[in-house]
Amino acid sequence: MDIYDIIIVGGGPAGYTAALYAARAGLSTAVLEKSSPGGQMTLTGDIDNYPGFDEGIDGFTLGMRMQKGAERFGAVTLYAEAESLSLEGKIKSVRAGNSEYHGRAVILAMGAYPRRLGLSNEEALTGRGVHYCAHCDGRFYKGREVAVVGGGNSAAEDALYLSGLAKSVVLIHRRDSLRAEKIYRTRLFEKDNITVLYNSEIAIIEGEDSLKGITVKSTSDSSVRRLYPDGLFVSVGREPATGIVKGALALDRGGYIIADESTGTSLPGVFAAGDIRTKSLRQVITAASDGASAAYHAQRYLESLGGE
Ligand SMILES: Cc1cc2nc3c(=O)[nH]c(=O)nc-3n(C[C@H](O)[C@H](O)[C@H](O)COP(=O)(O)OP(=O)(O)OC[C@H]3O[C@@H](n4cnc5c(N)ncnc54)[C@H](O)[C@@H]3O)c2cc1C
Repeated sequence: MDIYDIIIVGGGPAGYTAALYAARAGLSTAVLEKSSPGGQMTLTGDIDNYPGFDEGIDGFTLGMRMQKGAERFGAVTLYAEAESLSLEGKIKSVRAGNSEYHGRAVILAMGAYPRRLGLSNEEALTGRGVHYCAHCDGRFYKGREVAVVGGGNSAAEDALYLSGLAKSVVLIHRRDSLRAEKIYRTRLFEKDNITVLYNSEIAIIEGEDSLKGITVKSTSDSSVRRLYPDGLFVSVGREPATGIVKGALALDRGGYIIADESTGTSLPGVFAAGDIRTKSLRQVITAASDGASAAYHAQRYLESLGGE
């Protein structure tokens, strides 16, 4: 039976940074990736907040370069979807289709995905007026009008962030009060260029090649109105890709793996890096940072096992 020192599940920035650090430290390292290297980065044309690329870089290229950087030191990519994991004990295993892979330590880096509204046109207009990451794409809307959907802390934070760039922000929320904590609500109400539309939900996203408008329907009566924001930011929560570890690891209420900066989880030898773990800022640079930390702590863990 072949046993890797470290198996990494997920080939986004967290996974490939972990692979780079682990392989460079001389550990046999495999990355399981179910689609293309780069993870969520491949969904965006321009990443201009990852240092070192003074003119920005497209997410697909950055993903490929991260993969190459790790493979340069001997990490291997196994194109397979991890379907179940056995994480207890000293030898851990990952099942993918008919194959089973074994490792002494496992780094989970399966990421998280923004929840969608589920409206037709939404997918087609993603990146063309419909966005899921205010910190990433807000800059396209300097001096323009935007709408944010959601009522929790993230939506409030997005609205506040965008209010510093955009001319005006409409926050659309389906209930009669925001779920966001008081500190966010206070800051929202202090901003002159933020309006909150309560009891409202988006019924239609209009446009073929770019966002043309939205139809907003009242949740308290049958009224309907149309709005014409230049950009729509959907901030209705995220889905961490933790289905395969449910019941095996401690997760928080949102389904994220509970882990701090050390990336250690509730099981020895199992680490969680990137968007998949509890954290406040989910970005490429914080994912990469986690990957480095996970590899470092996994290495310490392997050393603690000695020759076992
Ligand atoms: C549209 C968009 C634009 C963004 N723009 C920016 C930006 O400009 N700047 C910025 O810093 N951040 C940006 N982000 C956020 C950034 O992309 C993420 O924070 C970052 O990619 C998280 O990295 P990760 O490695 O933790 O997870 P991910 O990037 O989500 O990678 C996880 C990988 O795991 C794989 N995977 C999942 N489950 C399995 C499984 N069971 N088996 C095998 N493989 C699996 C997935 O296919 C994926 O490749 C953007 C996000 C989106 C959606």
